[in-house]
Amino acid sequence: MKRVLFVTSEVYPVIKTGGLADVSASLPEALSRQDCDIQIMLPGYPAALEAARTAGSRRKARLSIGQYHVTLWRTRLPGTAVSLWLVDCPALFDRPGNPYQNEEGQDWWDNAHRYQLFCRVAAMMASGQLGLGWTPDIVHCNDWQSALVPVFLDHLPNRPGTVFTIHNLAYQGLFSQETFRAMGLPDSLWRFDRLEFHDQLSFIKGGLVYADRITTVSPTYALEIQTPEFGYGLDGLLRYRSDRLSGILNGIDTRIWNPSDDRYLDFHYGPDSLSNKSQCKARLQQQLGLEVNGAPLFGSIGRLVEQKGIDWLLAVIPPLLEKGCQFAILGSGEPRYTDPLRALARDHPEQVSLTVGYDEPLAHRITAGADMFLMPSRFEPCGLNQMFSLRYGTIPVVHAVGGLKDTVVDPGQAAGSRATGFCFERPNEDAFLHAIDRALEYYSNRKQWRHLQRNGMAGDYSWKYRAREYLALYQSILTEQ
Ligand code: ADP
Repeated sequence: MKRVLFVTSEVYPVIKTGGLADVSASLPEALSRQDCDIQIMLPGYPAALEAARTAGSRRKARLSIGQYHVTLWRTRLPGTAVSLWLVDCPALFDRPGNPYQNEEGQDWWDNAHRYQLFCRVAAMMASGQLGLGWTPDIVHCNDWQSALVPVFLDHLPNRPGTVFTIHNLAYQGLFSQETFRAMGLPDSLWRFDRLEFHDQLSFIKGGLVYADRITTVSPTYALEIQTPEFGYGLDGLLRYRSDRLSGILNGIDTRIWNPSDDRYLDFHYGPDSLSNKSQCKARLQQQLGLEVNGAPLFGSIGRLVEQKGIDWLLAVIPPLLEKGCQFAILGSGEPRYTDPLRALARDHPEQVSLTVGYDEPLAHRITAGADMFLMPSRFEPCGLNQMFSLRYGTIPVVHAVGGLKDTVVDPGQAAGSRATGFCFERPNEDAFLHAIDRALEYYSNRKQWRHLQRNGMAGDYSWKYRAREYLALYQSILTEQ
């Protein structure tokens, strides 16, 4: 049985800002059911320590690193049998706000120090220096916050194999040279082929340069990030390491996201009882103050940031309102997007509902109640919402990039028979609107629409087979060592 330490900066349901948290829970859970002793490591944020108190925890080690005092707790990820290790360092992690930012939405000034310490503890544990009686064969790191682990392990004899997964290349953990010095990292790391990136310290390069394998969360994104358009200046490095880079599509937790058994829904349904989906729609319209009618209802959930193509969404809403369409939008993010969306909701209360904030029950109700789900992301490493939608018979309309391209099949691609949604290629609002118009045409033909819905609902979005790809990857490293 392989032993794996999965190092992550967020994990559902303990702490979540995005898809990384979902994956950090559901992938280890799936692996734990397949010949893998996988344990998760997370910073000891207040919410994490609180969850540990509820679930029961044990103190496993105490150590000092420089000025910082650290306690290592072991608990379980709520609702699972998977072990969860918490790196408790109050000076760095006992703070309000989200993991990376204060309550005003500014990055914590000492993020580099916070995640360096986290990486150091992970590396010490993984290399047996904490004497815990458990060391992994593989350390699986995720995004920049854990990207220094392969660096710290690099020079050690008999070290575990390392995997680094890119969940979003746009977030790289860039800091000044002054910060690099203050962190006490050796000068030898300040090189363009190590951690230096255009006169800055780049955490993510730790993973990209030092890990035995690099993965990302969809095959298409694995190709895209090797191009200047999507590579954020790291495409050259990724091309250089392309023989070590692969894309493995994310799965979703099909127990939490299941329309026939969703605890947040008043009505449940499956492919053969889609009339109950209409009741979910009516209930949603009622709850959101939208007119309860048969108008096409578009859902949108996610971070309201440039990546998600919110400007294209803003552009298509007015012409669709004229056609009588409705919108249920849930998200939080930048005022340049929330302000105009608020204005639309204020001016058209019976057609546009905007909920600013994070609301899990509402996310489920929109996913079930909407007819179509809009994801015009400029880039999308994998995306989870389109898979939730497919499973709920809610037809996705997506920009054909990254994981969206890998999970949604347009009628134009599949001669109609295997189609599950609508894709647009050109990165602009006209192409987006054109795809929505095609979707509306299908929507007006009930038989065609049902066919699309059932195709999507029949897909397997679970981790079962996708987790096996990670197992094979771990094995390939062990075979090489
Ligand atoms: P990203 O990680 O880029 O934000 P993903 O599609 O990979 O995007 O994952 C986003 C996750 O966060 C999904 O589970 C989505 O449903 C959830 N989510 C995002 N915003 C909200 C919100 N405002 N309320 C509830 N859930 C949200």
